Amino acid sequence: MSRIDLHTHTTFSDGSASPTELIELANQQGIDILSITDHDTTEGLPEAMEAAKDLALELIPGIELSAQFQNREMHILGYFINLSDPQFQMRLEGLRSTRSVRIHHILDRLHTLGIDISIDEIEAASGTGTIGRPHIAQVLIAKGHVKDMKDAFERLLGSRGNAYVERDVPEAKEIITWIIEAGGIPVLAHPYWEGWNKAESITSCQTLVEQGLQGLEVFYGTFSARQISFNLGLARQFDLLMTGGSDFHGTFKPDITLGKGRGSLHVPSKTVERLRIAAGQ
Ligand SMILES: [Zn+2]
Ligand SMILES: [Zn+2]
Repeated sequence: MSRIDLHTHTTFSDGSASPTELIELANQQGIDILSITDHDTTEGLPEAMEAAKDLALELIPGIELSAQFQNREMHILGYFINLSDPQFQMRLEGLRSTRSVRIHHILDRLHTLGIDISIDEIEAASGTGTIGRPHIAQVLIAKGHVKDMKDAFERLLGSRGNAYVERDVPEAKEIITWIIEAGGIPVLAHPYWEGWNKAESITSCQTLVEQGLQGLEVFYGTFSARQISFNLGLARQFDLLMTGGSDFHGTFKPDITLGKGRGSLHVPSKTVERLRIAAGQ
């Protein structure tokens, strides 16, 4: 039985492990198939491929992109994308620049709240990676403005926090098209269907499928058996691919273990087989 984790983050977005460290950890933990799905970037993948090349570990190229759908933000994973597709890389560059605009807006909000941190401090915290709110949180923690990551998000950076600024992201339809045009398979990440009742969730899923969605992340690090079974039903109803992963962020989300999520994650091997076939790999 293969151990599979198709949703992980590195220092190239908001994870704490470098691509090499993540590959080493995955190898130690007996993971056979891993995908790195950093937000808005594939730049960590060459290092990961190098680290994995002599190991019995298969690395599937991935990415996680944010999208708007019916006034909500959702995340869409892309698997088996062609990393050297110039158009896709240009689109990612554009997404990263909207992140940086948002960070500046958040810093303005923090300033009006009497908290002064600079963009240089945040860039130093993010290293080479895609800049994000966890990096602001790191600086806030280091400077003693908040207790920990949870406190930073609850009081300041989360959607109910005082310094929250929404990010302007493309529509789901657009993001799905970008992934397909780069040769990838678009999969809805962690489908919580939050704020929708059962019938609305089914309709939303149908609309996304009409827009080109090809899969659902049925098996997710924090999902209950009930959530898994609901998504399994949707995947069957709309003949969608199924994927699964922990959404590992290293020490930034300490309750999530690589390959296991909160302990019960299990991604069936046949789901990866089908994903591979759909991608023509
Ligand atoms: Zn996500
Ligand atoms: Zn993620």
